[in-house]
Amino acid sequence: MSPTPRPGAPSKEGPARPPAQDAPPPFLRVTEIFHSIQGESTWAGAPCTFIRLTGCPLRCVWCDTDYSFHGGTKMSLDDIMARIREIGCPLVEITGGEPLIHRNTFVLAERLVEEGYTVLVETSGSEDISPLPAEVHTIMDLKCPGSGEVARNRWENLEHLSARDEVKFVVLDRADYEWSRKVIRERGLDRRVRDGSLRALLLSPVWGDLEWRELAEWVLEDQLPVRFQLQLHKLIWGPDEKGV
Ligand code: SF4
Repeated sequence: MSPTPRPGAPSKEGPARPPAQDAPPPFLRVTEIFHSIQGESTWAGAPCTFIRLTGCPLRCVWCDTDYSFHGGTKMSLDDIMARIREIGCPLVEITGGEPLIHRNTFVLAERLVEEGYTVLVETSGSEDISPLPAEVHTIMDLKCPGSGEVARNRWENLEHLSARDEVKFVVLDRADYEWSRKVIRERGLDRRVRDGSLRALLLSPVWGDLEWRELAEWVLEDQLPVRFQLQLHKLIWGPDEKGV
């Protein structure tokens, strides 16, 4: 399958460039590749291969993957693809860190789409998502104020989301909940979920900080068209386990 551009993406057409001679193979820095149960989003519960890339320019106060900020192993895209084929799972998620800070993430996503994988990309929403192929299911955070990174939200990304994509809010407290509710209503995300131009809105409590029941009751009270979610992998393997 050839990847297609997503809504509003700038054209990639330009003058043809000759292939670089002796250019090193494209690579990415990888924190871990593992096979697990998808813990979040509308894909929760499905077996999935995760490619966790290294590096993130954000510092959310409740981040649970800070081990991906540094280090990692440099892997060529060919080696990553070989590992994905070896694992053999049709569902693949590219995550981080923040995967979209690397140009080659877009190339990797294209290669996975071309080989027929169902591809999820989880992003903080701070980088331009428009170069991702339209076939990719983007799960994009909108950072709430309690994360400390609300200023990093790239609001233009909302125009590039399609019926395949999901928006996630990680909620620390009542103030974050009210902020999320306002954004959902004022940006018309509730309408987009109802008319099918957005796949889902996800609300997650910050693990260990907000009572699950409290958030669930707020959602019910306001009749928000969202999916309350918990991180299923943490329920299965415990909150501190890596590589699951
Ligand atoms: S964007 Fe994700 S990886 Fe980066 S600091 Fe926030 S939660 Fe952690």
